[in-house]
Amino acid sequence: MSEERYDVVVVGAGPAGSITAKTAAERGLDVLLIERNPEIGVPVKCAEGVSKEIERFVDIDRRWICAGIRGTITYGPDGTKVILSAEGAEEVGYVLERKIFDKCLAQEAARAGAEVRVRTQAYGVVNDGGYVKGVYARTAAEAEEDIRISANVVVGADGVESQVGKWGGIDTTLRLADVATCAEFLMCDIEVNPEYCEIFFDDDVAPKGYAWVFPKGDHSANVGLGIGGDVSSETRCARDYLNAFAGGKFPNGKIIAEMYGAVPLSGPVYETVANGLILVGDAARHVNPITGGGILEAMQGGEIAGDVIAKAVQENDCSKRRLREYEKRWQKEFGKVLNAGLKTKNIVLGLSSQDLNSFFHALEGETIAKEFSERALLKEMIKRNPKILFKLVKMLF
Ligand SMILES: Cc1cc2nc3c(=O)[nH]c(=O)nc-3n(C[C@H](O)[C@H](O)[C@H](O)COP(=O)(O)OP(=O)(O)OC[C@H]3O[C@@H](n4cnc5c(N)ncnc54)[C@H](O)[C@@H]3O)c2cc1C
Repeated sequence: MSEERYDVVVVGAGPAGSITAKTAAERGLDVLLIERNPEIGVPVKCAEGVSKEIERFVDIDRRWICAGIRGTITYGPDGTKVILSAEGAEEVGYVLERKIFDKCLAQEAARAGAEVRVRTQAYGVVNDGGYVKGVYARTAAEAEEDIRISANVVVGADGVESQVGKWGGIDTTLRLADVATCAEFLMCDIEVNPEYCEIFFDDDVAPKGYAWVFPKGDHSANVGLGIGGDVSSETRCARDYLNAFAGGKFPNGKIIAEMYGAVPLSGPVYETVANGLILVGDAARHVNPITGGGILEAMQGGEIAGDVIAKAVQENDCSKRRLREYEKRWQKEFGKVLNAGLKTKNIVLGLSSQDLNSFFHALEGETIAKEFSERALLKEMIKRNPKILFKLVKMLF
């Protein structure tokens, strides 16, 4: 087994890992970013929708934008239409091309000085005196080889299937009910609204979840759905529901790609740091439980993690206590939104179709929010129709 040494080793080159690596490298650290797959950004397991908030974390590059979005149209079980957009904004978000986007983020990390290595899979952490001090990895980058990579901090950015947290003593177990199992087709030759992301709530279409049509330009779209992990079975899984949804909606559409994946909807793990260890992105369950969106949280969490790690390494203190700054900062930035999302998800799951319909009736038509952030939209919906708040409280108690 060969030995290597870095200040930080980041496991997983999704948005969370690449931004963490980039930020830490920009702060002067010696960083290694490893990815098990031979190509970063592939396979894509995402509907690829983000709000314009992404511009806070990265300069827009039109190479990874498939479509600019004016808003969302959400349909209740009886077809009631709720349109959301933002005041004076032509574009409120984007549908990305993650195959390119993820590569560009890794490229930025490399440009900042991080070493990026594909076909390199972590299979354990180095534990020493109550600290995580590196990872064991198998690389096929040149010849197949086991490596012990020592580091002051290990970053678990290894997505929904994360193992790094478990290896380092953080319980990241997900219950089936806390996962959405998803299926998605990239379809072409279809008539879609090219400027709006469409979302469909209907238990017959996607039990304990929802279906989506996110336009990707040129008469193509990501057409997918997620269902509760606890309702998926061998006889009826997400793919069966998607065949029915996509076949009914776009009978003449052509499927040019299929993907299957999972989204963690549990809310954040109870601890995202340990001695010498930080979890970011899906590995930390930093996904909004009501929307299933996690790209922006992965990027924001990555930025905070990279900054905190740099300070900790420079101060020669990578204890859990020192790394808690990361936890405090992500909680301040987006912890409340994730917790509100979890509560809303639990309320929505408890609603009958009839209740869900009346929830949508209260919002029918167009809501124009001040800005297109999850927080601003929720506020605007309540302001627009205070009955919702009353309904939510009534449904809760
Ligand atoms: C069907 C579906 C639709 C979605 N739609 C949206 C959406 O429209 N908008 C949105 O914001 N979010 C969406 N999400 C969620 C979004 O994709 C994730 O939140 C986001 O990708 C999280 O980024 P990440 O970097 O944490 O993890 P990932 O992007 O999953 O990256 C993790 C990386 O770690 C690598 N890895 C794993 N284990 C190891 C290991 N042992 N060694 C080395 N590398 C390893 C993986 O190969 C992977 O490249 C969707 C998810 C799914 C499944």
